[in-house]
Amino acid sequence: MNETRTTCPYCGVGCGVVVRRENGNVSVRGDETHPANYGRLCVKGSALGETTGLQGRLLRPRVDDHDVTWSRALSVAGERLQAIIERWGPQAVAFYASGQLLTEDYYAANKLMKGFIGAANIDTNSRLCMSSAVTGYKRAFGEDIVPCSYDDVENSDLVVLVGSNAAWTHPVLFQRLVKARQDNPDMKVVVIDPRKTATCDIADLHLALMPGSDAGLFVGLLNAIQGDTTWSIDRVADFCGLLVGEVGTFYDWFITAPRAITLYTMGINQSTSGSDKCNAIINVHLASGKIARQGCGPFSLTGQPNAMGGREVGGLANQLAAHMGFEPDDLARVARFWGTERLAQTPGLMAVELFDAIARGEVKAVWIMGTNPAVSLPDSHAVCQALAACPLVVVSEVMSETDTSRFAHIRFPALGWGEKNGTVTNSERRISRQRAFLPAPGEAKPDWWIIAQVAKALGYGEAFAWTHPQEIFCEHAALSAFENDGSRAFNLRELASLTREQWDNLTPYQWPTGDMPYRKIVPVAPQKHSARVDALYPLLLNTGRVRDQWHTMTRTGYVARLMQHIDEPLVEISPGDARRFMLMDGQLARLSSPRGVMVARVRILQGQREGELFVPMHWNNQFARQGKVNVLVEGRCDPLSGQPESKQTAIRIMPWQPGWQGELYARDLPEVPPSACWWRKAAQGVQHLTVAGDKSLLEDIMAHCRVQEWQLQLAHSGDRNSVLAWHNGELMLGYWEDNTLPELAHTFVEEAFHTAPAELAARHALLNGQRPGEQVGQGRIICSCFSIGERAINEAIAEGCDSAAALGAKLRCGTNCGSCVPELKALISARG
Ligand code: SF4
Repeated sequence: MNETRTTCPYCGVGCGVVVRRENGNVSVRGDETHPANYGRLCVKGSALGETTGLQGRLLRPRVDDHDVTWSRALSVAGERLQAIIERWGPQAVAFYASGQLLTEDYYAANKLMKGFIGAANIDTNSRLCMSSAVTGYKRAFGEDIVPCSYDDVENSDLVVLVGSNAAWTHPVLFQRLVKARQDNPDMKVVVIDPRKTATCDIADLHLALMPGSDAGLFVGLLNAIQGDTTWSIDRVADFCGLLVGEVGTFYDWFITAPRAITLYTMGINQSTSGSDKCNAIINVHLASGKIARQGCGPFSLTGQPNAMGGREVGGLANQLAAHMGFEPDDLARVARFWGTERLAQTPGLMAVELFDAIARGEVKAVWIMGTNPAVSLPDSHAVCQALAACPLVVVSEVMSETDTSRFAHIRFPALGWGEKNGTVTNSERRISRQRAFLPAPGEAKPDWWIIAQVAKALGYGEAFAWTHPQEIFCEHAALSAFENDGSRAFNLRELASLTREQWDNLTPYQWPTGDMPYRKIVPVAPQKHSARVDALYPLLLNTGRVRDQWHTMTRTGYVARLMQHIDEPLVEISPGDARRFMLMDGQLARLSSPRGVMVARVRILQGQREGELFVPMHWNNQFARQGKVNVLVEGRCDPLSGQPESKQTAIRIMPWQPGWQGELYARDLPEVPPSACWWRKAAQGVQHLTVAGDKSLLEDIMAHCRVQEWQLQLAHSGDRNSVLAWHNGELMLGYWEDNTLPELAHTFVEEAFHTAPAELAARHALLNGQRPGEQVGQGRIICSCFSIGERAINEAIAEGCDSAAALGAKLRCGTNCGSCVPELKALISARG
């Protein structure tokens, strides 16, 4: 038995995880000693042990679609980059990095791009997540300082969550808040969000304001604090689409609370005026004195595990390094420290600008590290076109197939979680170790090593001569302390001389903010979002995340129990809009904007505002055909932060009634004709697609089976067709289709691929898709920890369970990580 303390690779809460390896199995539990979670884990963290397989991994370097040796891949990368730099200059090269990288990887990438290639064109997917928050903090405090900790959330009198569905996106922090509120009945919680989300479950007040109107609410609060009547409560209520009474209640609670903390995330940041919204929030804390003391402050939650580490090293195009900018003193200091004469002198291209510059042919080489911009950036068709036309695309990836890597000329296999070794920083400035507990698979290498080798191939080997990530960390810490007389709060001086052993054993370390002497109220003029709804595109699309998935699903999409909660792209719509657009719950719909089209399954929700739709951002070409929501979203950005307005896009929706819908299970999937849509589902030891199209797939599938010379078993009943294909007694494929989605006993089907039923009766039952004596389908899985479905929960409610605790006692649902408790309560109230 072998235990390793490490950090969860998903959200910015940054939970400590204890990994146990026993007889080849990996199991995880929360680290009781880690200050981020004190032993708790959410459902994604609990399933980490199920993500360490090598399915779909990129294990060898590839150049122009051929496996090559590392030395060949590195020399080709060096030669091609050098040729572009010599011909077009350093500005023709860009890096696009990720909040998934470790701090050491980020530092190496930033140093190579800004320090030695000599352009600042290194940006990151964190631009899409929290760059407005960075701008807000820098304008208010002169530096990117997050002045809060998680225990402030527990020790406050008023907790305000703005544009944050923390119950799903920062679940362990949310569970800490739930517990704190139980322990302190005087604590109040206000949720400010156009949607009624799971987070509203604990809200004393939910302000369902108009999308994008948050700045008006907080400018009004600032006026109320300062006795200014410009943004009166009446004006705010009108601007935000709220009742005067609820605005007044919020202001009253905030002003009278001895302590108040405001948590905010993408709903604030992802806006064309996101920086101003962040400052509007910071302003009310500055004006009321609710800052820099326990239980108080403006607290931006980061989405990614190491977005904060990227901010610390300066891995954004408009930062230089270690909280320094492009002022002459900073430029001279960083050049001295790195020993370079090639340091970039001006800010570089931010994410959306960068891909626009690729499309225009100005950037001719892009190196994408650990991220999937073909899915996550807005206007993803345009991003794909830009990548397809780019002369040199280099990708460092753990997965062999992503929507982005299909455009790559050079692919570097990178280490994943559990294999790599370094540090990450969470939302509360706490640096934790991610430790390796698995051997490097195939020929995969750490990102910092790949970057250092390319640097060497470009002729800069001396400055990148590290042999271990501890050396990089110490260099990063030393840069933060270099000529730092207290003018920069970010200062890791005490970590700069850690030995290898001390770094190996580093316990979570929160860097101090200092006194924050610079505090500025930044004037904000509230603006509405910039999406324009009209007769052609009459609805406003909001994008976001679902409880059990992460990013573009490269890890979580392969875990069966995480896929069961929501297993297809869905569109949430209000009952009124569903009637207006003739949509029924569970049917398919086409969503379109001037940029593209996607297909999603309709879910009608009481909590959805009229005129607004919500679609998750996770699905991509690996998991669905036409499931990518970012094809609809326009790349309009905040001019200060460069963060796109991913929360508001004008679109239209119409029902799609396909001729056929089917369930396809196979050991190896046949090609699905381009006319059909499909959604990949997680299944044990077999592949599973749900398919839909106007033309039946039956003939195509039978033709595929005949070519393989498999034995076919067919059934037709009404509109329902089913076919099983057998070979040497083994089930090779099963397909069931109908004019609506056929009901199927999915576990029975999955088992048949392993047990190979030989009896005729069993095979007939399988052809019907029903296990004898079993009621088909348990409905949507609500509790992923114990795989408890909606049907069992509804039956328990009908039998008298009238609280989440009662359901937990009867079925165990909600008794592990607690993430599903808001949904349990929603089911109880829906039947009450
Ligand atoms: Fe991981 Fe975030 Fe869940 Fe913690 S809350 S276990 S960091 S996904």
